[in-house]
Amino acid sequence: MSETMEAPAVEIPERESMEFDVVIVGAGPAGLSAAIRLKQIDSGISVVVLEKGAEVGAHILSGAVVDPVAVNRLLPDWKDDPDHPFRTPVTEDRFLFLTQGGSFRLPNFAMPPLMNNHGTYIVSLGNVCKWLAAKAEALGVEIYPGFAAAEVIYDDNGAVIGVATGDMGVGKDGTRGPNYQRGMALLGKYTLIGEGVRGSLAKKLIAKFNLSRGREPQKFGIGLKELWEVAPEKHKPGLVCHSFGWPLSNDTGGGSFLYHLEGNLVAVGFVLHLNYRNPWLSPFHEFQRFKTHPKIRDTFAGGKRIAYGARAITEGGWQSVPKLTFPGGALIGCSAGFVNVPRIKGSHNAMYSGMLAAEQVAAALKEGRARDELAAYENAWRDSDIGKDLFKVRNAKPLWSRFGTFLGISLGGLDMWLNTLTGWSPFGTMQHGKADHESLEPAANHVPIEYPKPDGKLTFDRLSSVFLSNTNHDENQPAHLHVANLETQRVSELGVYGGPSARFCPAGVYEWVDAQGNTITGTETEGARFVVNFQNCVHCKTCDIKDPNQNIDWVTPQGGEGPVYANM
Ligand SMILES: Cc1cc2nc3c(=O)[nH]c(=O)nc-3n(C[C@H](O)[C@H](O)[C@H](O)COP(=O)(O)OP(=O)(O)OC[C@H]3O[C@@H](n4cnc5c(N)ncnc54)[C@H](O)[C@@H]3O)c2cc1C
Ligand code: SF4
Repeated sequence: MSETMEAPAVEIPERESMEFDVVIVGAGPAGLSAAIRLKQIDSGISVVVLEKGAEVGAHILSGAVVDPVAVNRLLPDWKDDPDHPFRTPVTEDRFLFLTQGGSFRLPNFAMPPLMNNHGTYIVSLGNVCKWLAAKAEALGVEIYPGFAAAEVIYDDNGAVIGVATGDMGVGKDGTRGPNYQRGMALLGKYTLIGEGVRGSLAKKLIAKFNLSRGREPQKFGIGLKELWEVAPEKHKPGLVCHSFGWPLSNDTGGGSFLYHLEGNLVAVGFVLHLNYRNPWLSPFHEFQRFKTHPKIRDTFAGGKRIAYGARAITEGGWQSVPKLTFPGGALIGCSAGFVNVPRIKGSHNAMYSGMLAAEQVAAALKEGRARDELAAYENAWRDSDIGKDLFKVRNAKPLWSRFGTFLGISLGGLDMWLNTLTGWSPFGTMQHGKADHESLEPAANHVPIEYPKPDGKLTFDRLSSVFLSNTNHDENQPAHLHVANLETQRVSELGVYGGPSARFCPAGVYEWVDAQGNTITGTETEGARFVVNFQNCVHCKTCDIKDPNQNIDWVTPQGGEGPVYANM
């Protein structure tokens, strides 16, 4: 047989297609607000929303303390709706600095006014999305949960004309099984990408259209969260408590949140900035350790953990927002990155950006335009409420990264005060510098960290945690985590960095094993094999962000798979 002989061409069935005025990817706060706003402006505009979660909200993980400014604008009568999800107004704000075994409380009067949570609500953002989806459907929006947008479709001129859902029934080896079904093309005059943080299509669009040119690199954190049903005497509905400091060292950014919702529920979470340098660090284990602090652990005594999950969060802010538009569509919400980092709030800006984009789309459609660039959206956001919100806090993250937690937060507080009172900053607009994947240092420069064993009551291991995320992926499909070059992974990710993926993944997806199948804990590369337990993935996107060689690409698995979060 000739070595150059090619396999016979396999015919791929034609995609069926559906046409809409507007195609929206992602039923998060951004996508759903865009959909609602479009229908409010003109009920005749046809709008479709694709959501990869099995149902709306299944993949939403947030804190969440929500500033209602955006929902007030989108649905001004929301308080009249008996089913609205804003049930727990914030009644008390606490900021703690934790030391090992001790703590001190920062006086509220010292905090810049924008940090005040008065007038905000503690919610499950997943439930907010379910409620927004019902509003959108009542206005005639078509929402398809269980369908992942796997591919962007372009016309001959390179303009985006829609997206395609992933093929179903493809076997592990890439061959088509008996249940094979070709994905569907959803074509629109405009396509809005609301995939949230590190969207897989957004990433490709940003690269293709060079949308990050002239901007600072996007920055990220990984947020881990548990939902607890606590003993009634420990429950203080409306209490919001943030901490920073222990267990993280001064040069590792991050902090915690504890939000007391209704019904004896407490959301506890930990956000760790992904520009950390020590490859031995494990965000999951730092989170578990945090809960053991004497000031924190008491909340959970007699309680029960009922849910777990993780999701990255954008942290670059004002400097890092890419150009939002490309021919045929735009980025909205955290696909662009509108989180106000010191407030840990992004959902109001996600909603605002969806509304702003929708207004520009509706205006373009009215003029008979299609598949061109929505320049007015790009030109409007910095002067909008989103820009005003982000501009004031633009130096908080770079100051923290440059000066460490103690000094960086103090300078950030001063900077926010000055920006609020005078509109001026002594630091100008600071740069972030490196992208997060560039910050890891070789394993040899750091001492491995020994984390305490979980007790199964307050602290847990990763596998029993992942169980509570209800995540599920059909094993008989190609892995949705593409490792571009396994040799690079072995020589560099393991040999130089000690296999950080085995620690930064909050679901224990990655593992290095030796020839006998034993877990490798050091940097020994001889006979090492990279195991990817993709079934456990909770779609947080951390590997796509933090892999030091950018060798891992997260793509959509079959629609409807992944976590099934409830009340997260
Ligand atoms: C731990 C943590 C705590 C936070 N706390 C707060 C807080 O207290 N207050 C606050 O305001 N904000 C908070 N945020 C930020 C907030 O959650 C985000 O700013 C907000 O969710 C962004 O909304 P979005 O619509 O852009 O994206 P998302 O909420 O992420 O929604 C995107 C949706 O798109 C879907 N999707 C993605 N890709 C595809 C695809 N290819 N095809 C189909 N569907 C797709 C996803 O499944 C998801 O449902 C927090 C974030 C984290 C991680
Ligand atoms: S495999 Fe990647 S996206 Fe999935 S849970 Fe692990 S780090 Fe997150």
